Amino acid sequence: MSILDSRPALKAAVWQVAETAGYLWTKGWAERNGGNITVNVTEYVDDGMRELPAISEAFPIGVELPQLKGCWFYCKGTQKRMRDLARDPMANGSIIRITDDCAHYEIVADNLVMPTSELPSHLSVHNYLLAKGSPYRASLHTHPIELVALTHSKKYMEKDVATKLLWSMIPETKAFCPRGLGMVPYMLPSSVELANATISAIDDDYDVVMWEKHGVFAVDTDIMSAFDQVDVLNKAAQIYISARNMGFVPDGMTEEQMQELSDVFGLPK
Ligand SMILES: [Zn+2]
Repeated sequence: MSILDSRPALKAAVWQVAETAGYLWTKGWAERNGGNITVNVTEYVDDGMRELPAISEAFPIGVELPQLKGCWFYCKGTQKRMRDLARDPMANGSIIRITDDCAHYEIVADNLVMPTSELPSHLSVHNYLLAKGSPYRASLHTHPIELVALTHSKKYMEKDVATKLLWSMIPETKAFCPRGLGMVPYMLPSSVELANATISAIDDDYDVVMWEKHGVFAVDTDIMSAFDQVDVLNKAAQIYISARNMGFVPDGMTEEQMQELSDVFGLPK
């Protein structure tokens, strides 16, 4: 028996996470237990599920997040591997509900899997998104090789330098990652400072935020869409590297060509 039984919409959302986790592993972006995923699944929770007893005590989140009252999340488990989650999402992740004080969570799931240690920062982002009225329900942290490599150069850490380079490699990059890549300087993983800097980059109108010498953090309506934004950006970085490996610096599309895309397709930037 699983709490996903007879809840097809919830089951589909959890298995979309599993499918995405498999892609992260296949792409080489999820070594060991690297990366995190959290998805706000509140809309798929029915009355019967709301009445289920928790299988854990209530754990403090560490912060009070008023927008999350009554919210439910699927979270990758701490120390769990994406490649294992791809096969068995309920043994390598769990569903949690936020208690009414908005400062604790309890596990309501098939197995007692503690959520990712990044939970406070992920939940802070979800709290921010809800406060803003955003339709985004999924957040993803992963280590895309070529994008991380770019951040080892100060030049690409400057505002929108990497964005313009990546957009100019292939038109679809701007079409499918239309807000570009926000840049956050190196900060200690899991720190409150990194979480706050990430929220402020999202607030600066980016869906994908680059953490210098570490990885990306992406938000979107669902986890596959968040993955897709990272995937198109990383593909553009690979094209740039391929051209450099062929011995030349790629010309890139012109400013006019990129502006034309925005005008014709109504892109936000
Ligand atoms: Zn990481």
